[in-house]
Amino acid sequence: MTRVAIIGAGPSCMAQLRAFQSAQSKGIDIPELVCFEKQSDWGGQWNYTWHTGTDEHGEPVHSSMYRYLWSNGPKECLEFADYTFDEHFGRPIGSYPPRAVLWDYIKGRVEKADVRRYVRFNTAVRNVQFDHQSKQFSVTVHDHVADEVYSEVFDYVVVASGHFSTPKIPEYAGFEHFGGRILHAHDFRDALEFKDKNILLVGSSYSAEDIGSQCYKYGAKQIISCYRSAPMGYHWPENWSERPQLLRVDQSHAYFADGSSAPIDAIILCTGYLHSFPFMQEDLRLKTNNILYPQHLYQGVVWETNPQLFYLGMQDQWYSFNMFDAQAWYARDVMLKTIQLPDLAEMQADTQTWHEEEKTLEDAAAMFKFQGDYIMRLIDQTDYPSFDIEAVRLTFLEWKKHKKENIMAFRDQTYRSLMTGTMAAPHHTPWIDALDDSLEAYLQTDEECLRQKAG
Ligand code: FAD
Ligand code: NAP
Repeated sequence: MTRVAIIGAGPSCMAQLRAFQSAQSKGIDIPELVCFEKQSDWGGQWNYTWHTGTDEHGEPVHSSMYRYLWSNGPKECLEFADYTFDEHFGRPIGSYPPRAVLWDYIKGRVEKADVRRYVRFNTAVRNVQFDHQSKQFSVTVHDHVADEVYSEVFDYVVVASGHFSTPKIPEYAGFEHFGGRILHAHDFRDALEFKDKNILLVGSSYSAEDIGSQCYKYGAKQIISCYRSAPMGYHWPENWSERPQLLRVDQSHAYFADGSSAPIDAIILCTGYLHSFPFMQEDLRLKTNNILYPQHLYQGVVWETNPQLFYLGMQDQWYSFNMFDAQAWYARDVMLKTIQLPDLAEMQADTQTWHEEEKTLEDAAAMFKFQGDYIMRLIDQTDYPSFDIEAVRLTFLEWKKHKKENIMAFRDQTYRSLMTGTMAAPHHTPWIDALDDSLEAYLQTDEECLRQKAG
């Protein structure tokens, strides 16, 4: 029987499992599936851990998520076409749910599909080798529960191990003498640690924006964020300033390219992540920056020089869950041989065209469109339920506008589901005042909330 190994059980793998189960439910024979997940539960980044550094098995901690993290884009832009928020929650909820609520949603679909049995938890993939004679992969893993290293043979490998876990760490003059804490965003866990502190954020993307916002919300004294290329440019609260490039630090101060300096207690490096696949044989290892159309992946998914290998979710992500679905359905159909691939030269030429096209994109709106169009090209080739990607793009533009209007209140906005037409319900508490990010607190009805406030 054909065997498929999937590495990692985050949202991309969950999409792959659901894609196969969907085919099976239509009477199609599917291969034997084995997913190896190094953590004890599924959900990938959404499976919060308090650990930093190494986990209970000595594995590098995977999740970069932290307490109080809420969705940074409207949930309507990542809704599954085959499992809606209405189906999962049974009533309208807000548009920017906290981590635990989205984790519950992505789990709901695969629990319904009954695919957890394919996952071997606490099992880290150590090595993937391809044998050109047998045309099969040997996958070596470490089962931490049995403390056993073993290898198995597979016809296909799907790498779904994510790319926001290996921190990209810059070095600045004086770091070795700085008197406070220096950490990467990957190790940030709780904004309360920085209450009443002066913090410096290095970087000007989503981690800087959101970690700074968390620290503001939970009582940091002063926030300085600094940029290498461009400022984030939002209207920040009074105690948050944006400065150009950091030049150096001494024991207590940071010095910037505009000649200014400031006292700081802690430095949080929001400087992004490296694509890291140390377990892949060299000629199968994806090497790329965080971009929308990496080279070597036909349709963003198929390893061109060995189409028995797939990578899911390796793009920079304007879209997330629905893009993983589009990719997983496509990869499934290549494995089921209902999609025929062109020859190597044609695949490479196609990828190169899109890779070059990405370089011409000038703003966020063009990038949404580029990735949205890519998703639709995949969906058009499979039986994944089609949806109105143009409506998703317009919702993204609304989101951008709302962030510009008020970066500390955009999460109070609501949008209409593009799958069901249901309008999201305003959350019972404005984001800035909602200090409890638990699923239970978030899903309280207005009445329950009022009763609780009344004591
Ligand atoms: P991951 O979620 O990273 O899952 C990969 C899985 O592979 C993990 O379970 C990991 O344990 C496992 N794994 C890794 N290596 C091995 C190995 N060697 N052996 C076995 N298993 C392994 N997206 C949004 O849509 N909305 C958001 O609000 C949002 N917030 C984010 C906040 C942060 C801080 C970060 C870092 C990302 C955020 N994202 C968000 C993007 C997020 O990456 C995706 O939503 C999604 O989790 C990617 O899914 P994935 O399955 O591709 O990878
Ligand atoms: P990112 O988007 O890759 O951004 C990295 C930032 O670091 C960029 O601003 C980059 O600047 C800067 N940088 C890199 N190297 C640097 C250096 N040597 N010196 C100074 N600056 C440097 O990474 P990210 O912000 O961590 O986001 C990763 C993912 O996590 C995204 O998908 C995001 O959506 C997600 N996320 C979501 C939330 C949420 O609220 N739900 C929160 C955090 C993160 P240049 O522009 O100059 O390259």
